[in-house]
Amino acid sequence: MIRKNKKSVFKISYIIVLLVISIVTLVWYSKILKDELSNLVRNTLKEVSSQNVLVVQKEIENDVQSLEEIADRIGNVKEINEEEVVNTLKQIIYRYPFKVMGYCGTDGIAHTTDERTVDISEREYFRTALGGEACISKPLEDLVGGGEIIAFSAPVMKEDMVIGVVFATYDVTSLREILSVTSFEGEGYTYIVQSDGSKVVDSVNPTSFQNMTNIYTSMKESDRRNSKAIERLKHYLDTGETGYVIFYNKVGKYMYSTPLGINDWYLIDVVPVDFLESTSNDIIRRTYIVCAVLTAVCGVIAVWLYWEERRKKKQMQTLLYVDDLTGGNTFAKFKEDVEQRLNINYGRTAFITMDLDEFKLVNELFGYEEGNRVLRHVWKVLTEHCGDGEYAGRGVADRFSLLLYFEKRPDIEKRVIKITEEIQRFAIPSASEYILHPVFGIYYVESNGEDVESMMSCASLAHNQAKQERDCIYKIYTNIMKDRILEKKQLSDQIEHAYKNHEFVVYYQPKYEAETRRLAGAEALVRWKRPDGQMVSPGLFIPLAEESGFVCKLDKYVFNEVCLAQKRWIDMGLRAVPISVNLSRRHLDTPEFIGEYKSMLDQSGVPIKYMQLEITESAMFEKKAEFLEIIESLHKMGFVILMDDFGTGYSSLMMLKSIPIDVMKLDKTFVDDFDDERGEQIIRCVMRMAQDLCISITAEGVETEEQYKFLKGIGCDTIQGYYFARPMPEEEFEKCMEKLDSD
Ligand code: C2E
Ligand code: CA
Ligand code: CA
Repeated sequence: MIRKNKKSVFKISYIIVLLVISIVTLVWYSKILKDELSNLVRNTLKEVSSQNVLVVQKEIENDVQSLEEIADRIGNVKEINEEEVVNTLKQIIYRYPFKVMGYCGTDGIAHTTDERTVDISEREYFRTALGGEACISKPLEDLVGGGEIIAFSAPVMKEDMVIGVVFATYDVTSLREILSVTSFEGEGYTYIVQSDGSKVVDSVNPTSFQNMTNIYTSMKESDRRNSKAIERLKHYLDTGETGYVIFYNKVGKYMYSTPLGINDWYLIDVVPVDFLESTSNDIIRRTYIVCAVLTAVCGVIAVWLYWEERRKKKQMQTLLYVDDLTGGNTFAKFKEDVEQRLNINYGRTAFITMDLDEFKLVNELFGYEEGNRVLRHVWKVLTEHCGDGEYAGRGVADRFSLLLYFEKRPDIEKRVIKITEEIQRFAIPSASEYILHPVFGIYYVESNGEDVESMMSCASLAHNQAKQERDCIYKIYTNIMKDRILEKKQLSDQIEHAYKNHEFVVYYQPKYEAETRRLAGAEALVRWKRPDGQMVSPGLFIPLAEESGFVCKLDKYVFNEVCLAQKRWIDMGLRAVPISVNLSRRHLDTPEFIGEYKSMLDQSGVPIKYMQLEITESAMFEKKAEFLEIIESLHKMGFVILMDDFGTGYSSLMMLKSIPIDVMKLDKTFVDDFDDERGEQIIRCVMRMAQDLCISITAEGVETEEQYKFLKGIGCDTIQGYYFARPMPEEEFEKCMEKLDSD
């Protein structure tokens, strides 16, 4: 749960970080874009402004120039007649944009083209021209027609003397019209102001300052926020620098100031910020929209991917966690549940593995459908037994695992018995007498923090032990179990090395004729003598050697050793007796061993009657056909065959008839049972049957006088056991043979 939460918190923070990064990038990008676009806008404004300057300059300078030319021409006339001059002016005025033209002498009494006589002696433009320079006046009130005018004046010179002034008035309205043409699609407008801010030309644009006399005053009046813009504008007008300010007149507007180069006049271009920035705002808006759409698309894709992943995960989990057969938990789910249980209370928790003994048989005998029904029943029983926080899961085939809690250990054992009883209540319809045998391995969890694998392997160890024992319902894991397994592993690892190191030797256990107590033969038994003198019991290493197949090599070695010993004894002139050698069931897989045994025998030169072979009864049930074939071949060669451990397998007496053996070795367990009535009956029965079939009988594991006497009494031929002799080394057995000679 915690892991899942962590995962989703991580995912959410990942998405948030990504989102923040995208937003920051977007903001940063749009700021750059905005700055770039603003620069572009200002450059446009600058360009428009300089064009306007050019237009105004051209207009005014042309006029001044024309006036100067006219003044020149007048100066060139020999006799200047004021009336004539005015007449000439009247004739040419239509060529110029002037309102009125006029001429005056140095007295300042002027005659104009509209046939007036005005005294302009006080006017500044007159005085400047009188000083010898052309001049453009400030806006003046038209003394004649009213309205505002600008006056141009130029001196009329004769021999470097100013003899008069020619002048023209120019309607400010015309200048306004010229300026309004260049404005931004009617949104912009232009003023001309003097350096002190007073108006030269204002604008007809309705959004411009109305009745402006001074631009500073108008700005101040229109919005309080304009103080900074006024400051800045003052700076431009004082220093003659070009530059812009943003001011407010209902809306924000750019105001760009450029010196006109005429008097101390400045051209002020005004355009609303929105208009100028509308394109850039458009671009930015579109960028935002594209980004928003992209983000939305990415978001939708991300959400879709997320859901798709969740759906697939769920599907996978169902596949992985739900057992098709029982509809319950799989082992994977069980494992995860157990792993997520944080409060496994060691010392109070049991990990249990379970399966059914010989479950394969159910499938084989009653079909898979029946087998499945059995498994479903087992699952039902197990889950019904699980309490709060206890878990069950099914692994492969009939393997189940459980995690249970307890107060006292015997409680678990009682529960296991109860589960067994309930499982056994299941009846297979076609074979109601067939009883299921569940087998359990119990592991009482020893320490905190153990992982499922290690708990599982401990429980499995106990489980396997339980399976090796007949009719065992459960085994509890102990550390000794583990040690034994380790020991076994070490032994099986060492066995081959020991063989090369000649650590295996052959012991002989004599067999005696029951009737005469004379030596009748011996059984060769292998011994593992470690370099430190310690003996390893064949009961320990033979099963391991059988598992690995190494036993075949070992058997051959023993057979050869016995052949060589027999040869020595014969050569020594001792009276040889037949010696039986054990033949592992693993030889059934490799009939080629027969040839090898034959050649060992031939090489030694020992007559075959002195070599016998023992093979266990149970081997026959595993591979009957091979067993019979091999016995037949060995018989043909002339070997005497002994059936070892008779009575431990499942053979019925009747089966004896079909197996061509020469000697039957009654197992020790048989011999031990002789004193109970039923045991005695069985032995007698076996004896009779064997005698009928001409099979000779050897009793194994005879330890007491009573056993010997009983066996002798019922007609046993040969006796082998501690009562007569234990397995012994070669030299000791030699003495037994010598004794036989001397009898
Ligand atoms: P096995 O073939 O049944 O051998 C008889 C076992 O019974 C021997 O144990 C022997 O020492 C023991 N025995 C004989 N008389 C008595 C008695 O009066 N009382 C008791 N308690 N035991 C008696 P050992 O030598 O430990 O061998 C155990 C088993 O190991 C043998 O059982 C046999 O199955 C296997 N084995 C021994 N040597 C070989 C071998 O060379 N090849 C193969 N394949 N198996 C061998
Ligand atoms: Ca034997
Ligand atoms: Ca035996």
